Amino acid sequence: MPRTVVKFGGSSLASAAQIKKAAAIIRSDEARCFVVVSAPGKRDSTDIKITDLLYRCCDLAVAGLNFDEPLALIRDRFSEIITELGITLDLEAEMETIRAHLSENPQRDYMASRGEYLNAKVISAYLGFGFLDAARCVVFRDNGTFDAEVTNRNLSAALAHATSVVVPGFYGAMNDGTICTFSRGGSDVTGAIVARAVGADLYENWTDVSGMLAADPRIVHNPRSIDYITYQELRELAYMGASVMHEDAVFPVRKVGIPINIRNTNAPADAGTMIVPALPENYTGQRVTGIAGKTGFSSIHVEKSMMNSEVGFGATLLQILASHQIPFEHCPTGIDTISVVVGTDHLAPVRESVVEEISARLHPEIVKVEDNLAMIAVVGEGMVFSKGTAAGIFRAISDAGINIRMIDQGSSEMNIIIGVQEEDYACAINSIYQSVIRTD
Ligand code: ASP
Repeated sequence: MPRTVVKFGGSSLASAAQIKKAAAIIRSDEARCFVVVSAPGKRDSTDIKITDLLYRCCDLAVAGLNFDEPLALIRDRFSEIITELGITLDLEAEMETIRAHLSENPQRDYMASRGEYLNAKVISAYLGFGFLDAARCVVFRDNGTFDAEVTNRNLSAALAHATSVVVPGFYGAMNDGTICTFSRGGSDVTGAIVARAVGADLYENWTDVSGMLAADPRIVHNPRSIDYITYQELRELAYMGASVMHEDAVFPVRKVGIPINIRNTNAPADAGTMIVPALPENYTGQRVTGIAGKTGFSSIHVEKSMMNSEVGFGATLLQILASHQIPFEHCPTGIDTISVVVGTDHLAPVRESVVEEISARLHPEIVKVEDNLAMIAVVGEGMVFSKGTAAGIFRAISDAGINIRMIDQGSSEMNIIIGVQEEDYACAINSIYQSVIRTD
């Protein structure tokens, strides 16, 4: 029988009504036998996430202040959910353990993890599924880093004979039992590691949007949603700011080729976005999968005659940046020119010394820094095989009267990176979208 791991995010489990929707989705397909849950999120825009209330309790306790109020909000929220679900579950002992922890030795990760822990208890009771505490299987090393391989072995063993289980997302534990969490949104990661451990056929990530959009809806009006995207395309778009799930959630499933399906708990009939190892063979979808971008870049432009014959010139330049802890994003080169695009916030504190060191060590004719740049990534594996996509992109930008400051095509030919002035950013994205995605 196919096995699906389903992960529900905080907005999908924010109230009893939302939990009922999630349960109906789970019950509608018997393959959905492993369930990973977030803590209850916001019910509306004015609400507070349970995880944020837990952090607040911890901060107050650490400061020696009274934490009764946020703790009562957490207790009331779970009580309301339990009552409305009509289950008999008493969380009083758990709440007392949390109170004692806060009074004695408050720890942020332990506190943050309790939202997922309690919610998994509630949902396993409601579904009649088993409960597996992530602290038993998800392992963090003594230095706080996640141990993927030991975790995989533990989870595979713990779930080998399980038929229906709820696992709390977001946390695990060190060997001494100390609880550690992933970074915010980390239940996505737990979902992926459970999917890998049980050899799932599919990892469904249920959220509050019907998949990933081809462009940022704050910039492009009503962008179309993406039906298929490869792991690598997703990585390129996510790196440039498009977000649909936790970045680290792709690696565990990518390793073993399990597809991810982003779905909407509030619109379960929508197919959502499939994140796949490779596009289906007869796929006739778009050449360009999506556009994303970021502002806040600077370009360090260096010119020197005969640079091409000076071995190690580029290496020295990058080494100067590395010695100032500045990561570089792109590095377009000409015969006698080289530019390095870096984040302005990395460069700003050391700008003078970087420029001085470049002058002193490389003796260029020109070294100058240009700020206020935006980088736009146009991503699509289909671009490799189609003629004219790049021409279409550049024509669209030029028709919009925008000056392109930099072009960089990734060696995979899966992305074209375009640098423009920040003031042209939104207009450039819109014109590219209209010319190569909407009409694709
Ligand atoms: N509850 C945690 C957060 O708010 C983890 C998660 O939802 O994935 O970040």
